[in-house]
Amino acid sequence: MYSKIGRRVRIADAFHSHVQTRAYKDQLIGREDVIVAVLRTGKVALVELDDDGSPFPAGVRRWSFCWDDLHKETKTNPPQRRAVEYRAGFTWKGRQAVQHAVPPEKTVALCGQTTRPLPVCEWSLTFSATVDRACLTCVQLAKTAAESNEESDTLAS
Ligand SMILES: [Zn+2]
Repeated sequence: MYSKIGRRVRIADAFHSHVQTRAYKDQLIGREDVIVAVLRTGKVALVELDDDGSPFPAGVRRWSFCWDDLHKETKTNPPQRRAVEYRAGFTWKGRQAVQHAVPPEKTVALCGQTTRPLPVCEWSLTFSATVDRACLTCVQLAKTAAESNEESDTLAS
């Protein structure tokens, strides 16, 4: 967990933010400013405008934004957002195929099993955690990996 305070963000939208923020969205969207506080257990960030002499009423320089409206500066936080797509690999239990999650370019599944793609398919299936015959270890490991990806992009307070 690390603090987002001091992080530079681009204001991408005001759709989710406070009504007062929304009222000035035309002036605010597109700006890049600095987070000075994180409120409401990480749902809201208080952003301070860089320039002195704010063009806004009463010189307001701090605006609260819902986190979803902000684009974080990516230089200090390399994007890991793209969810990993696992291919489906199979092992056989008697006549039953068990589906495993296989990282791209690999033949060994997350659980350590050496797998084969379905022999009838030229194209590779995408691993689905919801099929009956999915390997439970793979399901769990794929889920954990996805969650840790998300966590790096969620506000820590
Ligand atoms: Zn597996």
